[in-house]
Amino acid sequence: MATPSKPPSTSSGPLNPKTTHREFFGFPGAVAVMTTTVAVLYTWYFSCNERDGCQLPLTFDRWKHIIASATDFHAYFNTQALKYVAMWWAWLAVLYFILPARTVQGVVLRNGQRLKYPISGLTSLLVTALTATAVYAQNGLGPFLWIAEHFFELAFASLVFSTLLAVFVYLFSFRHSSVERENKPVVMLALAGNSSNPVYDFFIGRELNPRLGSLDIKYFCELRPGIMGWVLLNVSFALKQYAQQGCVSAAMWLAIVPQIAYCIDTLLFEDKVLTTMDITTDGFGWMLAFGDLTWVPFMYSLQARYLSFTPVHLSTEYTVFIALLSLCSFLVFRLSNSQKNAFRTNPNDPNLKHLKFITTKSGSRLLVSGWWGMARHVNYTGDWMYGLAQCLATGFDTPMTYFFSAYFLVLLVHRNYRDECKCREKYGSDWVTYCKMVPYMFIPYLI
Ligand code: NDP
Repeated sequence: MATPSKPPSTSSGPLNPKTTHREFFGFPGAVAVMTTTVAVLYTWYFSCNERDGCQLPLTFDRWKHIIASATDFHAYFNTQALKYVAMWWAWLAVLYFILPARTVQGVVLRNGQRLKYPISGLTSLLVTALTATAVYAQNGLGPFLWIAEHFFELAFASLVFSTLLAVFVYLFSFRHSSVERENKPVVMLALAGNSSNPVYDFFIGRELNPRLGSLDIKYFCELRPGIMGWVLLNVSFALKQYAQQGCVSAAMWLAIVPQIAYCIDTLLFEDKVLTTMDITTDGFGWMLAFGDLTWVPFMYSLQARYLSFTPVHLSTEYTVFIALLSLCSFLVFRLSNSQKNAFRTNPNDPNLKHLKFITTKSGSRLLVSGWWGMARHVNYTGDWMYGLAQCLATGFDTPMTYFFSAYFLVLLVHRNYRDECKCREKYGSDWVTYCKMVPYMFIPYLI
């Protein structure tokens, strides 16, 4: 009697090789990042809030207070918050399926496949904004004030769900391919996420593109519940300030308008995310689940949260300075990214014919003039300055509201390192030539 053949394993093979290089120093780094980021989320809330203010330094008594508050689990475990976060994700998932969308193809995967993605993030945001306006017309400010006042309950609910989602995708990545296409496994693992160390793989993300039907979980999380949740939190904090002080301050506008514009910009260029490292290279694990769904909305809205309970009066000159800094840095960020995107989409675009480039052995061209001739990552500089302007809007009473700038600096420097490694590997000696022609990394003539 013939024995039924075993379904192909997803664990290793020529297309899913064992991970040789572990990011973040492997297991200890994964544990350190997971505990530190959650500790930061807790610390920043329990040491900077409406009741206690945002005092630094954190004395022994303050630490005792933070630890007592953080371990008082019943104070922030809120079933309603859990329900609302679940409803938020579900609402955006439904919109992902039902809204009309332009379909685009992702990059070619190692198995030759190209996945399809719906481009409907901006429409989702619009429909959500209209729905929020209807909620306001029906119920007034109440629902938004509830969000602002139950911030940490919502953050905790999001942490629980992000972690559960990471557990799910980790276990899900072990399924056997029920379908094989030309003997290639359908379950594609990330090159960095197949180390066989469960904690590290859970953290970094084992599967490259986990999907439930046509719902691409990583793509959905990258651009929808977190990014739009960030907008909703900012609006809720501004409305809270309005409810308490009768107006929205200039500082609040300077903090939230650029952030909302950034979210809209991200959704406007939604298809560009398909060529970023997050989508093409990184697996979907705890790092991205927590980062996209909890860290982005609940840490990045700190400036608006602080301003919702702290009156900050800015002089006219300072207000104009921050507005100009926001505008200029946004232009650097947007124009440099658009220039490279246009060049990568069509290097022969007549609008780009004034730009100089070198042709590499890989066949790809590298720009050596325009924005990309100034510094190798001038787009990161614009992005960082833009975030700094939002922090400057909170004044100088506490360094805690500058968290975003400090954190984003570390993120971009690390990302720059990863990208330089990738390019050195991809372009070899051509990258060395490019670095000689464009010697600065972030700021021309400086660094
Ligand atoms: P980049 O847009 O910086 O792209 C890097 C890639 O561009 C390289 O890998 C290379 O890819 C290509 N490239 C490099 N130099 C050249 C050149 N001279 N000419 C043409 N192509 C070149 O990547 P990111 O995804 O890191 O950043 C995109 C934007 O997203 C940035 O503005 C960043 O600030 C922002 N960002 C924001 C985050 C946030 O949390 N708010 C997080 C991460 C990023 P190849 O040659 O293979 O095409």
